[in-house]
Amino acid sequence: MAQVSIQEDVLIGVPDEPRLIGGKCPDCGNHVFPMQKDCPKCTGNQIEEVELSTRGTLWTWTVQGFPPKAPPYIGETDPSNFESYGVGYVELPGEVKVEARLTENDPERLEVGMEMELTVVPLKSDEQGNEIVTFAFRPVENK
Ligand SMILES: [Zn+2]
Repeated sequence: MAQVSIQEDVLIGVPDEPRLIGGKCPDCGNHVFPMQKDCPKCTGNQIEEVELSTRGTLWTWTVQGFPPKAPPYIGETDPSNFESYGVGYVELPGEVKVEARLTENDPERLEVGMEMELTVVPLKSDEQGNEIVTFAFRPVENK
């Protein structure tokens, strides 16, 4: 089964080397995610697309324990099939805080400041049987 990015202008390199596309302001060095043309920090409107870092630290998090309102949510909405998932902000060093799903939903295993890395998680299948994936962060295993 092929994996397909939910949004190819945001998430590239699916499935093996996922990268997030953000923007960098050439005037002040500010990063944005998702990509936008206007810099929220200065008056620049020349923001250029960049691949963001794949590692960062967990800035804050929570656990989504019930299906979000759909749309915009497109995953499992049947409460009896729904599986809770972590969601949080991951701070990419020197870049930007990215709001993302977390692969971990156990509060015992999530801690502010822990190291996280980019991965993808399946949301649903499309009519062709492809698996639609979105980006997520997982705790970096200590080796
Ligand atoms: Zn700027």
